[in-house]
Amino acid sequence: MSKFIFITGGVVSSLGKGLASAALGALLQARGYKVRLRKLDPYLNVDPGTMSPYQHGEVYVTDDGAETDLDLGHYERFTGVPAKRSDNVTTGQLYMDVLAKERRGDYLGATIQVIPHVTDAIKAFAKSDLTDEDFVLCEIGGTVGDIESLPFLEAIRQLGNELGREKSLFVHLTLVPFIASAGELKTKPTQHSVKELQSVGIQPDILLCRSEVDIPEEQRRKIALFCNIRPDAVIAALDVNSIYNVPLSYHAEGFDNEVCRHFDLLDNFPEPNLSVWRQISKTVEKPEGDVKIAIVGKYTSLLDSYKSLAEALIHGGIANNIKVEINWLDAEIFEKEDTIHHLDGVNGILVPGGFGERGAEGKIAAVQFARERKIPYFGICFGMQMAVIEAARNLSGINGAGSTEFGNCDQPVVGLLTEWIREGITEERHDKDDLGGTMRLGAYDCDLIPNSRVRDIYGTDRISERHRHRYEVNIDYKERLEAAGLIFSGMSPDRKLPEIVEIPDHPWFVAVQFHPELKSKPFDPHPLFKHFVSAAVYQSRLV
Ligand code: GLN
Repeated sequence: MSKFIFITGGVVSSLGKGLASAALGALLQARGYKVRLRKLDPYLNVDPGTMSPYQHGEVYVTDDGAETDLDLGHYERFTGVPAKRSDNVTTGQLYMDVLAKERRGDYLGATIQVIPHVTDAIKAFAKSDLTDEDFVLCEIGGTVGDIESLPFLEAIRQLGNELGREKSLFVHLTLVPFIASAGELKTKPTQHSVKELQSVGIQPDILLCRSEVDIPEEQRRKIALFCNIRPDAVIAALDVNSIYNVPLSYHAEGFDNEVCRHFDLLDNFPEPNLSVWRQISKTVEKPEGDVKIAIVGKYTSLLDSYKSLAEALIHGGIANNIKVEINWLDAEIFEKEDTIHHLDGVNGILVPGGFGERGAEGKIAAVQFARERKIPYFGICFGMQMAVIEAARNLSGINGAGSTEFGNCDQPVVGLLTEWIREGITEERHDKDDLGGTMRLGAYDCDLIPNSRVRDIYGTDRISERHRHRYEVNIDYKERLEAAGLIFSGMSPDRKLPEIVEIPDHPWFVAVQFHPELKSKPFDPHPLFKHFVSAAVYQSRLV
């Protein structure tokens, strides 16, 4: 049976619990173990799909079509294990299931309570859909002390008891702030956070202490003494230049060693094989040059909304030994006169996914600039739809070209489809469906057309990529657009849905309906990002 590691956080939010979990997953993998990472989110939304990207950051989509927390993106990027619907749950989802059971009479008239009904549902979730994983890492969202977290803490406390110490481990991530005026690291917030955890019956086994500076021996002893743990189990989580240095830094501080010691596994695999992480770290620390990529989007004030995208560009940089500098630009700028100069000097332009009309014309202007000035262009989802509208208007002369996402439109080159086929089964959506249920979500196959740029880039005829959108490029316009030079180089296997367009007569112009950024990894950069960055490098040497 799998061993469970529960990761909680305290003191303040945003300490990077997701990254910490992901990095520990990578370190255990490096010792030859099979891992699975899960996120248990205490908020009441059923999933993050309907939450504003400004508040919650990116919605990460899995192959099986779940809209999940962005931490699952970290998990995949660090471990390569594809995340599934069964790896993320929220209070809203749990209550929905418990209440549905209650309505069906499954509880046989019992009084439904947080303990045991909700806590049982949490435990069942943590243990569900596992096969032969050595370790299951369960991250509890939020911060210890939040009202919403309580049922989750109670559930993992119970689970810890049921599994026993040899099969469970509690890691608590805290902050050890450096107070400049006193010239000292302060351990009190950590002590309070651990007290809070102890008050609900959880004694952490390992403390992971975020700190700007190294934590001296004396402070470690103090934390250990007050928090009732061994001094060796106080691990410093130091600030690092790149998130891809985190596994190496944790290892140097003895984190994975301490985890393996707890489970009495040190004799099996005494040292992890970290050569992949060393290589990545070397490239990130010492690139051979840099390129400037402009991202023309909408949520540029909260960069977490484009988390996977920013990471995928870094991976594209790693593949080319290059540092990618991202210039985040709000698309609305380009709706004003004389502003296109903001794009001067960039080596590549990327229009990412997006929703709604605001900024759309600015994105179309950015596409036109990239196309006419022969600057590498990469359109993703909304960025493909805008590229098609731009080509329809300016290459095919279809003046009224637009998207029905913005209201009625004379020339709907992008429109709502109500039916599509996945694995031979017709799926339907309706205008009046709940917001959560009207999108094409998850992995779909796409055929690449022979002799196209993308066929070359991927090196295969059929690919599978993840989707999250309601609207589609309208196949009825294919002939007119192709005659004008915009080629439909990726199509759904039934040939009804355009998935990729490209302009052959351009240094690099590729736009895709799916989200390739969701599948890129530092040790396996996505081919489209690799080639886009490489085209940007080429462009940078021309100027
Ligand atoms: N708003 C567009 C749609 O729903 C694009 C979505 C996206 O970019 N993810 O089709």
